[in-house]
Amino acid sequence: MNDFLARLPKAELHVHLEGSVEPETLVELEPSLTRDWIEEVYTYGDFPAFMRAYEWVNRFLRTPDDYALITRRLLRRLESENVRYAEINLSAGVILWKKQDLAAIDAAVRRAAAESPVVVRWIWDAVRQWSAEEALRVAEMAAERLDEGVAGFGLGGDEMRGPAEKFASVFAFARSKGLHLAPHAGEITGPEAVWAALELGAERIGHGIAAARDPRLLDTLRERDIPLEISITSNVLLGAVPSLREHPVRRIFDAGVPITLNTDDPGLFRTTLTREYEIAARAFGFTESELKQIAANAFRYAFFQYTV
Ligand SMILES: [Zn+2]
Repeated sequence: MNDFLARLPKAELHVHLEGSVEPETLVELEPSLTRDWIEEVYTYGDFPAFMRAYEWVNRFLRTPDDYALITRRLLRRLESENVRYAEINLSAGVILWKKQDLAAIDAAVRRAAAESPVVVRWIWDAVRQWSAEEALRVAEMAAERLDEGVAGFGLGGDEMRGPAEKFASVFAFARSKGLHLAPHAGEITGPEAVWAALELGAERIGHGIAAARDPRLLDTLRERDIPLEISITSNVLLGAVPSLREHPVRRIFDAGVPITLNTDDPGLFRTTLTREYEIAARAFGFTESELKQIAANAFRYAFFQYTV
């Protein structure tokens, strides 16, 4: 299985650049941090604890060079895992909120990505607990860069404090400009959040595991050919599922809904894409042929036509 997974050409569709920062890199960015301190922050009991850790890491990303460094580190890791194509979420909303130069950061990360054999497209995320105006600014700047590697508009952050409906006009704008839509939905909320994302034109759903509780929603996702971007380790560590055993990935797959496997935040969760495939095999009995199908899905549902 290990050999098979190492050789399998993979694509990663749901990975946050800022969530990919490993402790070693964080110490480089901020030498006053200790490993014990980082380990403590990188331990989560629930979603709010994770949000605090994510914000904390963002504080140490001060310059375009910092963003370029973490892009190179992420892509080196993906390359070593035989990941050929990646759609990387950039927390553009957070960068604007930090009053940083988003255009300069965009240029720096794209330059860094161009040095890697991994083909990259970017998804710019707005923060859902903030205003629709702030999200619109993200979508506007993303739309200006459609020909320069930005492929999609996403919505991340705390679902409890920012339902997708609040951003209906922003989604409509993004769609009208040709941006693909891949919001998070149904991660720590219920099936209604996934329904709402579909209503707004989502082409893929980040997480969406709550769909397992709604047979009609599973049917709809299958019929409309909308994939769920599944991140097993993330869901377990953040308490989105009560335990690994209770993760619905097998039920969703068996219901015929297309899925992809993803790391979400590999640095903060200390996981890798290969490991996510291993967990699927070990904990849920996915066979080599099923994993091949899931890996092929990641290319098939990408927002850029990549031929393996
Ligand atoms: Zn995510």
